[in-house]
Amino acid sequence: MTVLVHTRADLASALHAVPGEIAVVMTMGALHEGHRQLMRVARERAAFVVVTVFVNPLQFGPGEDYEKYPRTLEDDVAACRAEGADLVFAPARDDVYPHGAPSVTMHPGALGEILEGASRPGHFSGMLTVVEKLLLLTRADVAYFGEKDFQQLALIRRMARDLELPVEIVGVPTVREEDGLALSSRNRYLSPDQRRSALALSRALREGAAHSDPGAVLAAAHKILAEEPGVRLDYLALTGADLGPAPDEGPARLLVAARVGTTRLIDNVPLTLLKGA
Ligand code: AMP
Repeated sequence: MTVLVHTRADLASALHAVPGEIAVVMTMGALHEGHRQLMRVARERAAFVVVTVFVNPLQFGPGEDYEKYPRTLEDDVAACRAEGADLVFAPARDDVYPHGAPSVTMHPGALGEILEGASRPGHFSGMLTVVEKLLLLTRADVAYFGEKDFQQLALIRRMARDLELPVEIVGVPTVREEDGLALSSRNRYLSPDQRRSALALSRALREGAAHSDPGAVLAAAHKILAEEPGVRLDYLALTGADLGPAPDEGPARLLVAARVGTTRLIDNVPLTLLKGA
């Protein structure tokens, strides 16, 4: 049975005396197969699965889509039910921030300044602050996050490590449509034409990752993006698997962010670099 609660008091009573491990999947709602995959992986392991649905105002900048972000709670609860989640926590803003905007917040450090952090000032501070609060409110032993938001996942891992949070962070590979488009709640903003343009992101990453020399990886990906006029590139970056500088050889990550119309999309893939390739 899936129970829906809205307040932190009801959450605390629902969690009272839960036996065994508590897993949390944090979402902003408008749930799709990507979110559902996180729930399935959580369900395989944990005795009790909590899904949070909260559009966190703290992680949206001025002019971003906080107001128009899709809110589809009824469908979201049905999806959680179908995946066998035990509890859905869908708090109002005042239940997460009862004292207004917090004055003590998380500081993501240097890793929060690059890539998404450079384009979205304050985003990662707001994200880490709510993740920390929701980890404590849900009393999670293990938390599942998608690789789709790779920098977010890396920062959450680092927060847990650096601040000794008693929680295991598990990353889950990106779920895609058959044609390669990474699932995202923001895909619903795209017109059919824009959706076709948006496919250039995953195609560029796939073409790039087929190479193993850094120059060739970036050239192949840039070529695809340049050929698609509907895509306004924000960044294309080749980094190490930890988002540090790309190594000469070994595991790496290729990441892209771009605007299609007014919708900002991100995607990334793993790849392996080889010396002298
Ligand atoms: P969001 O609702 O966009 O904040 O995402 C909630 C969680 O779902 C985050 O951990 C995301 O990384 C994850 N997620 C979103 N899209 C996907 C996807 N296509 N595949 C896997 N995980 C995803």
